Amino acid sequence: MDIEKSGFNTKLIHGGDYKDPFGSATVPIYQTSTFAFENAEHGAKCFAGESDGYIYTRIGNPTISALEKQIAILENGYGGIAVSSGMAAVTTVYLALLNSGDHVVSTDAIYGPARGIMEKQFCRFGVQSTYINTTNIATIENALRPNTKMLYIETPANPTMEITDLVACAELAHKRGIVLVVDNTFCSPYLQNPLDLGADVVFHSMTKFINGHADVVAGIIVAKEKTLYDKLRSMMIYSGCNMDPHQAYLVLRGLKTLSLRIERAQENAKQIAVFLENHPKVAWVKYPGLKSHPQYELGKRQMRGSGSMISFGLKSGFKGAEILMNNVHLALLAVSLGGVETLIQHPASMTHAKVSAADKLKAGITDDLVRFSVGIEDVADIIDDLKQGLDKV
Ligand SMILES: *Cc1c(COP(=O)(O)O)cnc(C)c1O
Repeated sequence: MDIEKSGFNTKLIHGGDYKDPFGSATVPIYQTSTFAFENAEHGAKCFAGESDGYIYTRIGNPTISALEKQIAILENGYGGIAVSSGMAAVTTVYLALLNSGDHVVSTDAIYGPARGIMEKQFCRFGVQSTYINTTNIATIENALRPNTKMLYIETPANPTMEITDLVACAELAHKRGIVLVVDNTFCSPYLQNPLDLGADVVFHSMTKFINGHADVVAGIIVAKEKTLYDKLRSMMIYSGCNMDPHQAYLVLRGLKTLSLRIERAQENAKQIAVFLENHPKVAWVKYPGLKSHPQYELGKRQMRGSGSMISFGLKSGFKGAEILMNNVHLALLAVSLGGVETLIQHPASMTHAKVSAADKLKAGITDDLVRFSVGIEDVADIIDDLKQGLDKV
């Protein structure tokens, strides 16, 4: 059968294209650092790229390759590059695709360290960056400079849940030879395929939805075409931010239930979003599945579902958020997201604490904002937990 033509769920189960010599139903963990060549000629061919034999795990490993192939199929890309973490994916993208003197335009509310490393580290090498509200295409166009080489979008953005139009971004970027990179962590390939919408590179923190069990830190990059793929793969091998085979095995295991987990969490999230919107102590709710979301129509066009991430604000602000954090019992007070367990966190004092007050305000990361990652527990229990926590606010 042609796996590329099969449905998403079939790809989740059979997309790895791994053929085991003993017929193993799962991809084994090739826990090895190096691979013995058959003879000197074989070794030479492997190094020359004339044989697909493995050489050394930093360069490639069967367990890791199975995961790379599977995610590349799910994202409709040329090939995948598995890395040690989501941040290793961010860093590899920057290192491989930017030169000194280049300029990046990006979403103001992105994953904190993806912005931090640009403003605190890459600036030392002469890379410039501008952070703006990318929900408005005119704002992006105005931010472009003659040396802009990358448009880096996170949609829905973290933690504001604002949605950026990827088709419009691709059109704008490609007119000027700019590469469009999308952080697809919040959606996973189940809800959104940026490469199909025109992006050149997509990446994930697989720590979140793709693995989904809060037991692995991992990342992956998928390029649409070979030229970009080769540049990214080469940088990963040089920098040594490769994945470990055991990590790849755990992600392969979590990945199989991606659609089941997301469907369940999303059903829960829809009900929780409505509960929050009607709660007297809640000032506002941002959830792509609510008509009140400012980019509700765009979300419906570009995403195949509204997901399980909710941001909301409390009328009693920072203090109220703090009280709620300290009074929920089922929801874990923890950063990260996209796992089977419900998590709650307060970006202003936690994930985005290092962003300056002015930049936080500009990016819409207000002091009252609570980020809620809905898990797959019984929705009545999650709502009861929130209810009793909100009573104390
Ligand atoms: C967590 C996260 C990252 C970073 O991933 P790590 O696996 O923690 O290194 C990047 N982008 C988004 C949107 C994330 O949520």
